[in-house]
Amino acid sequence: MRLVLVGPPGAGKGTQAQFLASHYSIPHISTGDIMRANIKASTPLGLEVKAYMERGELVSDSVTNEMVRNRLNEADASHGFLLDGFPRNVGQAEVLRAILSEKKTPLDAVLELSIKTSEIVARLSGRRICRNCGKAWHVDFEPTQADGTCDACQGELYQREDDKEEVITRRLQVFEEQTAPIISFYRTEGLLITINASGSVSEITERAITALSRIH
Ligand code: AMP
Repeated sequence: MRLVLVGPPGAGKGTQAQFLASHYSIPHISTGDIMRANIKASTPLGLEVKAYMERGELVSDSVTNEMVRNRLNEADASHGFLLDGFPRNVGQAEVLRAILSEKKTPLDAVLELSIKTSEIVARLSGRRICRNCGKAWHVDFEPTQADGTCDACQGELYQREDDKEEVITRRLQVFEEQTAPIISFYRTEGLLITINASGSVSEITERAITALSRIH
């Protein structure tokens, strides 16, 4: 299964990606996660992308496309993958199509997680991430037993710089202006499957698996 997940920030892409990647036994490739890991390790790439991410702006296509090209060349991606957060504009979608067409391994589907803007802000502003294991919690919808501590590994929770309210507005604007056009791009390619992303995590995973089972 070669799959792209698309949807606005806060639609639950990262959470669903983990379940779907495990269900199909394919690697979960999140460009945001790769960038954050580089920032944490203070690599040259991390230093280059940090300011863009903190402002909610897209990192340059040249840096991002190269990162994805390298990642897709790794052995574990040869039997399928789930891309989360890439592509984020039509130029990136065209580069992805070219990379996959060189390998003769086109995408099977693009799964769109659709959600109302009013739900997004509440989801993002309450999100807290574990510094240790990366699991996402939510202060209201999925609280931990002790404030600020991960139930899974006892790691410390933090709020992503770009989940602060002033940056969320910019991220939504960037999504509408730059990322939303890829939805029509993939509809035209006949790859788009849209599901409603409101509800519990398990309901949405089930919707996704049911929708994806129809393509094979
Ligand atoms: P995410 O974790 O997917 O929400 O991404 C967080 C941030 O990483 C974005 O707001 C961008 O600054 C950057 N980023 C992630 N993926 C991409 C991409 N495909 N193109 C450009 N910037 C990206």
